[in-house]
Amino acid sequence: MSGDEAGALWCEFAWLGGDRAEAGVLVELDGERIGSVTAGVIEPPASAVSLPGLTIPGFTNTHSHAFHRALRGRTQAGRGDFWTWRERMYAVAGSIDPNACLALARATFAEMTLAGVTAVGEFHYLHHAPEGQRYEDANEIGRAVIAAAHEAGIRITLLDTCYLSGGIGREVEGAQLRFSDGTAEAWEERVDALKPEPGARLGAAIHSVRAVDPGSAARVAAFAAARAWPLHAHVSEQPAENEESIAAYGMTPTALLAEAGALSGRFTAVHATHLADADFALLGDPGCGVCLCPTTERDLADGVGPARRLADAGARLSLGTDSHAVIDPLEEARAVELDQRLESGRRGNHSAADLLDAATAAGSASIGWPEAGSVAPDRLADLVTIDLDGVRLAGAATDQLIEAVVFAGAAADVRDVMVGGEFIVRNGRHRSLDVADELTKAISMLP
Ligand SMILES: [Zn+2]
Repeated sequence: MSGDEAGALWCEFAWLGGDRAEAGVLVELDGERIGSVTAGVIEPPASAVSLPGLTIPGFTNTHSHAFHRALRGRTQAGRGDFWTWRERMYAVAGSIDPNACLALARATFAEMTLAGVTAVGEFHYLHHAPEGQRYEDANEIGRAVIAAAHEAGIRITLLDTCYLSGGIGREVEGAQLRFSDGTAEAWEERVDALKPEPGARLGAAIHSVRAVDPGSAARVAAFAAARAWPLHAHVSEQPAENEESIAAYGMTPTALLAEAGALSGRFTAVHATHLADADFALLGDPGCGVCLCPTTERDLADGVGPARRLADAGARLSLGTDSHAVIDPLEEARAVELDQRLESGRRGNHSAADLLDAATAAGSASIGWPEAGSVAPDRLADLVTIDLDGVRLAGAATDQLIEAVVFAGAAADVRDVMVGGEFIVRNGRHRSLDVADELTKAISMLP
């Protein structure tokens, strides 16, 4: 047994689903999977690695743009809105080269592992060189992002994103030249050259109805359907997107995507903040996912997504850190409930267990890793152990550990992280990277 591998884990507490954590759970590993799970093992067997605290499935970060990490703390001064923030983001997008992208993505993904994230859906739209020239390998940046995930030790689904116009009926300009393949056919041709590999899967994304016309959206949807890939799209993040869509097409973005054949159980709408009444059934009836990104949505003044109503309509909620204003899955999870409380004047809209499902199994399913996201036999051994002895969680009631962790825990309480049966983070430290140093260096490489 090497230092990074274990044959069996004894968890002081583990969340196996439902509202309560089980005490004394023995998890036997079978390669990269969980072999067996036995609750009620009060004494840790000598052969097992002992994990004090609460062990839960690894978090899935369902919606990420890794390079946005460089903007953290740099867009807070002065007044503005989503659209003025976007100009700042474009300045970074316009300047980054593949080497800088690899370094920044590796550091950002490593920061995610320290926060307990074991799988990420990277909504990847930065494809080409400045001015839009093609790299010799047209997928150079996409491959760099996948390599970054491997080096950080995290699973990835590269959600390769089609982006063709700078707004409905507008040519791409400036940094957007780097995003565009010109046509959906050219997007297909480029993406067809990508292949999945161990730890890395593929999916498709329609950037938004602002950036992809209805005919092209239908092509991307058909391409994803033919491969049974996940399909994601930014949907109704801002009211202006709805207004443009209705003015140009007489339909909301959700209705347009439904017409394009995009909505199914493999589809995830990202944000879905400003929906029309009819949009709820369009997303809920086929069992679409909806990825909420509350810390980004509050940072960008997007609004509060209708989480309870979406779940009631049949949509499965997942969570993403999107622009990485912060990277803390527990903060995203509780924000869904707490933001609803501010709007509704009512508590208890979403249970802690439901919020944890959004942060784990629902996200895994959304990005095409359905065999991850729960502590159960045959599932991937992607696990996170939360320290219960730190100042935030000390004194938590053992029969309300899920509530304590979701509503008061933080990324800083993540102590051990396992991906595929190997420890990536042990005692709060990444196995191979000095993450803060990597972040500093990667961000300082940018102009
Ligand atoms: Zn996004």
